[in-house]
Amino acid sequence: MTSLPLIPAAPDVPAARRAAMPPRHLADLDLAGRQALVTELGEPAFRAKQVSTHYFGRLVRDPAGMTDLPAATRDRLAGALLPTLLTPVRELACDDGATRKALWRLHDGSLVESVLMGYPDRVTVCISSQAGCGMACPFCATGQAGLTRNLSTAEIVDQAVYLAGVAASGAVAGSPPRLSHVVFMGMGEPLANYSRVTAAIRRLVAPAPDGLGLSQRHITVSTVGLVPAIRRLAGEDLSVTLALSLHAPDDELRDELVPVNQRWKVAEVLDAAWDYAARTGRRVSIEYAMIKDVNDQPWRADLLGRLLAGRLTHVNLIPLNPTPGSRWDASPKPVEREFVRRLRAAGVSTTVRDTRGREIDGACGQLAAAEDDDTDMPQEATA
Ligand code: SAH
Repeated sequence: MTSLPLIPAAPDVPAARRAAMPPRHLADLDLAGRQALVTELGEPAFRAKQVSTHYFGRLVRDPAGMTDLPAATRDRLAGALLPTLLTPVRELACDDGATRKALWRLHDGSLVESVLMGYPDRVTVCISSQAGCGMACPFCATGQAGLTRNLSTAEIVDQAVYLAGVAASGAVAGSPPRLSHVVFMGMGEPLANYSRVTAAIRRLVAPAPDGLGLSQRHITVSTVGLVPAIRRLAGEDLSVTLALSLHAPDDELRDELVPVNQRWKVAEVLDAAWDYAARTGRRVSIEYAMIKDVNDQPWRADLLGRLLAGRLTHVNLIPLNPTPGSRWDASPKPVEREFVRRLRAAGVSTTVRDTRGREIDGACGQLAAAEDDDTDMPQEATA
């Protein structure tokens, strides 16, 4: 399998600065932290609430739009609290505009992506938690290039706030205007960036103006299965949905598909998942990419069924989205149907994930990969 360098350095950014974290942003801080900072800047504390109401309540990210603030105050606060974190490089739409993908360049030249998905009853954003990923799953585009760096809390939150603004502008026809769901299924391993991801979740669920006011139940954290971090997450006062990227029911195959399995085995990671379900009362999602002749055999469906039967869980089968240069393909539909049938026969709730965004390289890391292939072409700036 060819390895693609997915996260190119911007030509004007010296290598030494590439892994640098971005400047602080209001979304890095809770409301009390913002108030303390604003006071330090010599402004009255209530300004923190005013700016936060713009950002989280009205989804206004540009200080120029905060017209109820005196111009000098706006400049001072914008400099300290609202640095530009995400510069759109490309925005692509498909599914009649119901799916929109954004590719962002970060301050150090790293590229990350997010996806906005509109449904009749809800609006979901899929966001990234790291630039690149260190987990090296061989079927995942992001996994091929390794980790560039963790995203800051605000870089994570700002993806959701930006796309919530796009949804609020009515851009997603046939869907509610309000963002309701967030899934950590973009680039990166969220539990490998634990403190920033949990801080970001706190911003997403805090009521405005502290945060976006989403429901904890509407946030999904997807993980390869970092067992200590799953256990730690179960102890937080956050009942978010846990999705576990299992992809194989046996250690021999999972060691290859999800290399972190060499450290925490199937039995161990499922144990942690069931403890998470018990502590939070939330059904754990089991993610299983259907890969032709690799993990889609009837015996593997039966083994998976035995592991999951009677548990508080739901299986999401994901038709593999083949990455450029990959030797793997999606399972044929009849094979997929038989897999579903066997899981359901074992009493396990199972659905096949819809394949939103295929035409816009919706799978993990593929837009960033395409961007890398095109670096000598002029890029549309959509800022
Ligand atoms: N690191 C986290 C979240 C990122 S990916 C995790 O692994 O869970 C979100 C989901 O997409 C994971 O289940 C991942 O295994 C899956 N995925 C990655 N590449 C894929 C591909 N090419 N086709 C189908 N699913 C893929």
